[in-house]
Amino acid sequence: MTANNPDVSLVVPCHNEAENLSALYTRVLAVMEKTGGSWEMVCINDGSTDDTLERLLALHRGDSRVVVIDLSRNFGKEAALTAGLDHACGDVAIPLDADLQDPPELIHDLLTKWQEGYDVVNAVRLSRDGESCLKRASAHAFYRVINRMSEVDIPADTGDFRLLSRPVLEALKMLPERRRFMKGLFAWVGFRTTSVYYHREPRYAGKTKWNYWRLWNFAVEGITSFSQVPLQLASHLGLFVSLLAFLYAVYLIIGTMIYGNFVKGYPSMMVALLFLGGVQLMALGVIGEYLGRLYEESKRRPVYLVRNTWTNDPNRQIYRK
Ligand code: UDP
Ligand code: MG
Repeated sequence: MTANNPDVSLVVPCHNEAENLSALYTRVLAVMEKTGGSWEMVCINDGSTDDTLERLLALHRGDSRVVVIDLSRNFGKEAALTAGLDHACGDVAIPLDADLQDPPELIHDLLTKWQEGYDVVNAVRLSRDGESCLKRASAHAFYRVINRMSEVDIPADTGDFRLLSRPVLEALKMLPERRRFMKGLFAWVGFRTTSVYYHREPRYAGKTKWNYWRLWNFAVEGITSFSQVPLQLASHLGLFVSLLAFLYAVYLIIGTMIYGNFVKGYPSMMVALLFLGGVQLMALGVIGEYLGRLYEESKRRPVYLVRNTWTNDPNRQIYRK
């Protein structure tokens, strides 16, 4: 710990979370008082349209350990989290959802593991109250698929709630990608990792920002960021279909030689045509997904833009009081 830097940085991405913030602060305060160390709570306002920013600023005025970073628009949770981790000054950072689904009380256990010498402590959900069977089943399927396809091992049932030590934070800053699938990046950097377990609570107030369409896109994002198997699958499938077509051609030639040439086979032709068309479109789609990502990365735009920062640390940029 250096003179000015806190021991623990809590990183809270907030998008329309006005109703949750004071409850969050109260619970965090109670937990952090007990740890005895110094701390800060870095809250990122990710383009909220309610009065999240005003509530955050009120908290900041009452307690300067609440640092507020206001992004220029809604960049999405992954970008908001990246902004928070970039700005965290602590020896460890702990991302926390603003809706109290990640119980702050677990911070104790995370810190204990860190003191035992671990760099990454994952908080693994034993249960997910208040989430539908379909969401649980699709999440389960997603982890199975991505871990089979990808070389990094992304732990199942682990959200962004975890402890990251300073070396891990520095490692994350070195990853240049613009499209940030944080769960994957956390796993990719490695380091000594362990887990603690907890029961996930339902949202305190407000609605989840995720629907199935966003979740589907999130899953595609994760898979295409961490696996090239779909690309290889496209070529394997192409090879397999070509082989089938070749065998069929041999069959037709031999058939013609033995029985002569009848004008028949409209159904089989249509089936082959449609099947091949479908396979080709799918393969093109897969290539398109990767090409699109390559294009995004090549633009090298920043992951997020900060409108203003409220902090008492003179070393950090403040654009406007
Ligand atoms: N969030 C964000 N930007 C977004 C969407 C969500 O910063 O565009 C934040 C949100 O405020 C919350 C966290 O990400 O603190 C998790 O969001 P949510 O609770 O909606 O997701 P779920 O818990 O259902 O996965
Ligand atoms: Mg939530």
